[in-house]
Amino acid sequence: MRQAQKKESIQVHCNQCGGLRWHRILQEHVQAKQPAEAILADVLTVVNIWQIVSCKGCEDVKFRRYSQIEETHFGLNTTTTMPEVYPIPSSRALPGWLSQLPMVMLEGNRLISVLKDTYAAMEIGAYWMTSIGLRTALDLVALDKIGLDKTGANRTFEEKLKALRRANVITYEERRLLSFLIQQGNASAHEAYQPSRDALSTAMTLLENTLYRVYILPREIQKHTPDIPRRLA
Ligand SMILES: [Zn+2]
Repeated sequence: MRQAQKKESIQVHCNQCGGLRWHRILQEHVQAKQPAEAILADVLTVVNIWQIVSCKGCEDVKFRRYSQIEETHFGLNTTTTMPEVYPIPSSRALPGWLSQLPMVMLEGNRLISVLKDTYAAMEIGAYWMTSIGLRTALDLVALDKIGLDKTGANRTFEEKLKALRRANVITYEERRLLSFLIQQGNASAHEAYQPSRDALSTAMTLLENTLYRVYILPREIQKHTPDIPRRLA
């Protein structure tokens, strides 16, 4: 049996670190076989390689597979297929502060889970789902901060933005900007609108900014304020 060229470390995209990083090969399985067609079996060998790799930076573990097609008759060349990596490489890393978000829930959906699913939908190109996911995440923020209205009924999304502004949770400017995210999500939910990746990336940045300012920043300020020396009278 032929062996894949054995390397101890390889470069793989790491979603946690946000770029190409060296990975250690923890396990590797190699399988060589001849093509079923007799005419090809004489000259070609297909080597399938499966690997479990771990990032040397953050220790995140991934599954990687690729194939090498070798010309065996003359030993002239080897073609290597593009490796597939699971979880799928993400060009947009999840914010490092995600786990610090509150445990807000709506019909069994947790804010953090909704965000993770939304980023995953973006990476596989399910753009209309990403668009709805962003709107749902904002809905959970509204539920957390202002709840249902006095009659117990749920507000429309625009009403929620208005109420968030009135309660001083968001600024005037944020209300105006977040309206873009709501309109995009509404169009995806009702008209199956598929926004571009660029448009979704903008909406995602907007939501990340809002979440960070509403939930994370006040806690950070509170944590560091006691470090400032007081001016002696
Ligand atoms: Zn990493």
